[in-house]
Amino acid sequence: MVAPNAPDFSLAGRRAIVTGASRGIGMALAGGLAAAGADVAICGRALERLDACRRAIAATGRKAVPFALDVRDSDAILPAFTAATAELGGLDLLINNAGIEQVRPSLEVEPALWDRIVDTNLKGAFFAAQAAARLMPPAGGAIVNVGSLTSAVGVPTAAPYGASKSGLLGLTRALATEWAGRGIRVNAIGPGYFRTELTELFYQDPAWCQTMLGKIPAGRFGALDDLVGATVFLASDAARYVTGQMLYIDGGYMASI
Ligand code: NDP
Repeated sequence: MVAPNAPDFSLAGRRAIVTGASRGIGMALAGGLAAAGADVAICGRALERLDACRRAIAATGRKAVPFALDVRDSDAILPAFTAATAELGGLDLLINNAGIEQVRPSLEVEPALWDRIVDTNLKGAFFAAQAAARLMPPAGGAIVNVGSLTSAVGVPTAAPYGASKSGLLGLTRALATEWAGRGIRVNAIGPGYFRTELTELFYQDPAWCQTMLGKIPAGRFGALDDLVGATVFLASDAARYVTGQMLYIDGGYMASI
């Protein structure tokens, strides 16, 4: 009898781009990919803010390629990814993480705020995926979009954000079906509650913290490292037949509502 092969979670030899890697979830995911063996190009709007992430990647012994990019500038994405890919020596993985949020009652949302959020979280992710797909080798690659609980759940005062993240789920499914034949898998993670600059205001409110903790079956907020395993899995060959899915990483929140 032939012994079964162990699943291959390694990213050794892979080349990745992570958007929005200057802090928070993007920085954790970039470091996690590097720890799993990938060389990682990282971007954010300001080159100098990428230095901590660059050092974290370098500490794993992998190559770090920082570059400045505002993902709202659709025309700038392909040239920036092309240059980063040249430095990496190829491109196998994209983590579409760059995202912003500004809570506001929907009656007070002005078009500029809508555009800022949707252009970053959804339009930016689409054109980053398009650029990556053009640069990936004929054998294909993997894209992981960073969605949210609001990809599936309504949250008051978060209409533009929820629309962008629900759209990202639709985008994940559409691209997964369209690009499966090219060997490009497209999945998403849906983080639950993680304390970062994006969400810091909420965490300064003890009443909010207590209420939310009561709704999370695991009884704690997420730690950034909690997101790494699922992302590495979706990026790796262990997930070679997984595409078009969103994996919630939320301590059981989605299962409980
Ligand atoms: P942070 O605000 O800590 O980080 C956001 C990152 O995105 C920064 O690196 C920022 O870099 C970058 N960024 C923002 N706008 C742009 C842009 N236009 N172009 C390029 N980069 C940009 O937030 P989080 O780490 O919390 O969020 C990361 C992702 O995770 C987002 O998509 C968010 O929606 C999602 N998420 C977060 C959750 C949480 O609980 N924290 C829950 C669910 C989803 P810079 O400012 O240097 O440009």
